[in-house]
Amino acid sequence: MPPAEGGPLRGSSAVTVVGGGVLGLTCALELARAGHRVQVLSADPVQDTTSAVAAALWFPYRAAPVDAVLRWGAASLAVFTELSADPSSGVVLRPGTVVHRTPEPDLWWAAGIPGLRPATADELPPGAPAGTRCTLPVVEMGRYLPWLLAACSAAGVDVAAARVTRLVDLPGDVVVVAAGLASGVLLGDDTCVPVQGQVVRLADPGLEDWLLDEDNPAGLTYVVPRGTDVIVGGTAVEGANGAEPDPRVEAAVLERACALVPALRDAPVLSRAVGLRPGRPTVRLDRTVVDGRPVVACYGHGGAGVTLSWGCAADVAALVSSP
Ligand SMILES: Cc1cc2nc3c(=O)[nH]c(=O)nc-3n(C[C@H](O)[C@H](O)[C@H](O)COP(=O)(O)OP(=O)(O)OC[C@H]3O[C@@H](n4cnc5c(N)ncnc54)[C@H](O)[C@@H]3O)c2cc1C
Repeated sequence: MPPAEGGPLRGSSAVTVVGGGVLGLTCALELARAGHRVQVLSADPVQDTTSAVAAALWFPYRAAPVDAVLRWGAASLAVFTELSADPSSGVVLRPGTVVHRTPEPDLWWAAGIPGLRPATADELPPGAPAGTRCTLPVVEMGRYLPWLLAACSAAGVDVAAARVTRLVDLPGDVVVVAAGLASGVLLGDDTCVPVQGQVVRLADPGLEDWLLDEDNPAGLTYVVPRGTDVIVGGTAVEGANGAEPDPRVEAAVLERACALVPALRDAPVLSRAVGLRPGRPTVRLDRTVVDGRPVVACYGHGGAGVTLSWGCAADVAALVSSP
């Protein structure tokens, strides 16, 4: 189980968390485990959030600043690694390859990743000049988000459906804003931008390894097998906020993915989805005072909200508990 369980009780405030995606729920769980009384208000059911669309490979994609991202990512990696021992969590550790298409790739994300090594020629997909092999958590969100909800419920968190329009109306001693892309509206922050991503879910033809090819000249490509299905992506269109899958985009994504992983060629399509990553120049995680009450902000995680979730939730719990 995650390390926060059983930790010392640091206080008991009434905390209202706005947002029931991966960040809001993980923050709520950490806060409840720290001894707070927590209510989550979420405009959407968890299966309709951006979090439910995530691939979700542990990888700090499109998130900044680097130092904090590395720290949050490392903390989350440790928790996901522990959770992989519990099959009900939907977390598994899988080997895979990050493709490199430049002579001196920047492995800024790789500090602390166990088992990292250059890929051998026979481990590289067709046409890929180089790559790094490593084993990372793959988080099956269709199983993980219900696990997280159940863990929140067991810790005494109350999760309710509600769309918040004004923070001043909320109950609680402290408010946590973890509403993804909508957080900026609630806090008067106009630096948030959607980064649209489209994925297609295929039947798994028996793949063992994930693949990430960020610099593919034809476009971002990733293949994340999960046992019965494979998430294939993707796109990252800054400023686009359409939520409907585009068949032409899907055809192009599949073409790229099948070129790299030919075993996908005849795999049946199971479903398709579009999600809006909560883009921001940097993740916002701080404590301010709004209408005379402490407000902790936790949003703007771009393409790495799952990857950073446990590290950020620990910081949120510390900020809520601080005097
Ligand atoms: C195609 C795609 C692939 C991705 N792959 C990965 C990956 O491999 N690894 C990874 O780490 N990340 C990945 N991501 C990114 C990840 O999904 C996001 O960073 C993460 O889901 C953000 O979580 P969140 O909780 O901040 O926001 P969300 O999941 O968007 O949740 C926001 C919550 O706030 C609620 N809300 C909004 N407005 C209000 C309001 N006014 N009142 C009350 N509640 C409100 C919503 O109902 C929802 O519950 C991917 C994203 C996409 C789109």
